[in-house]
Order: sequence, then C-alpha cells, then structure tokens
Amino acid sequence: MTTPSPRTVVPARHARTVRARAGQSVRVTDTRGGQVGDVFAFVADDPTEYHSAAHTRAHLSRLFPRAGEVFVTNRRRPLLTLVEDTSPGVHDMLIPACDPYRYADLGADPGHRSCAVNLVGEAAAHGIPVTDVPQPINVFMNTPVVDGTGIDWRSAPSRPGDSITFRAELDCVVVVSACPQDLVGINGEGPTPLAVEVLDGSGRRQPASAEADAPSGEEQP
Ligand SMILES: [Zn+2]
Repeated sequence: MTTPSPRTVVPARHARTVRARAGQSVRVTDTRGGQVGDVFAFVADDPTEYHSAAHTRAHLSRLFPRAGEVFVTNRRRPLLTLVEDTSPGVHDMLIPACDPYRYADLGADPGHRSCAVNLVGEAAAHGIPVTDVPQPINVFMNTPVVDGTGIDWRSAPSRPGDSITFRAELDCVVVVSACPQDLVGINGEGPTPLAVEVLDGSGRRQPASAEADAPSGEEQP
C-alpha cells in the first residue's frame, strides 16, 4: 500500500480505483463542478460479476438513479446503494462509456483519452481483466429523455463540492473515470478532476483508499 491519502484525486481525463468492503461507502466528489464521472463496480472476489446499468434499470423500473435505490449486478444482486447525494440529483444510466470508437466518430485524434480505455487500464492494474466494458453509472451526467423517446446531451449541473455516496453491499472494486469528453458539451467548460474516497460505516475516511494512488504514471491535474 502506498502512503495513506484521505481523498484521492482523479485527475482530469483519467481514472482511479478504490476497494470498499461491504458496509463501507464510496464517495465521488465533483471538486470544481460540471464534471461527469463514469463509475464502474466489480465484485471483489469474482469480477466477472459487476454493476450493470441495464439490469439496474430493469430492477428499479427506472431510467435514472436516485437516493435510496440500489444498483444491481449482471447477476441481479445488489452491489451498491445510493445513500447520499448533495448534487442536484442528475445522473445517467442510459449512456455507455466513451471509447475510441466514439471519438473516431466525432473526428478526434486517435489518441483521445476515453473512459473505456481508462477503465481497462485501471482494472488491469488491480488484477481485473476487462474485455467487455460494463455500462457505467454516469454520475452528474445530464442526459434527460425528451419528447418521450429522445435523449438530450446537456452540461452537468453539479456545483463545486457536490458529491454522491454509494454504500457497498458486497466487497467491491470501484473505478472512477473523470470523463474526458470535450467534443460533446456534457462537461461544462471542459474536463476537470474528481475526487474519490472510502468511508467506514460511521462516515470516517478510510486510508485504504490510498491504493488508488498506485498506477499509472499520469499527470496530475
Ligand atoms: Zn467518458
């Protein structure tokens, strides 16, 4: 384990990983506001089981998350519960993680960072081989349904310091990617950092979250 850190910065356009035991909570904070985070969660002792937005929508009969509701896995077991949300409460469960194909479609340079590649790299560094990228919980992402069947792409309404907190229902590994999207206007004025921390049952920070400092030699915000 590296030097304990009470709160791990997720640099703009990059991802970081924390481990949470059942009963602990994972808090994602939008430090500067207007930034989308892609949150992926894997069951610690069998990462072939992971959070699935599609299964969660079916489980809840809802399109978007809200406080008090659970997020289930691809085997339909509760993995996370949304226990606290200080943001305006706008989050997405419809949109897949951005990936190199998305950026190619948008005309970006081939090296444009993406949440999908961020996830694969972070997960591999923590011993989790990811071949199919799960559909994430896109915290602070503002993609409402319009006119019944359409999807609009709007800027994240989160304010500096807004946070969303998930309780782990099973021991899990959580990867948070600060979305690098800068060609579709979801990230306010442009990509900025996030922060992630692990809290114990009483709401205290866990130094174990410093594991997130481990990989990957990327620049700081
Ligand atoms: Zn993204």
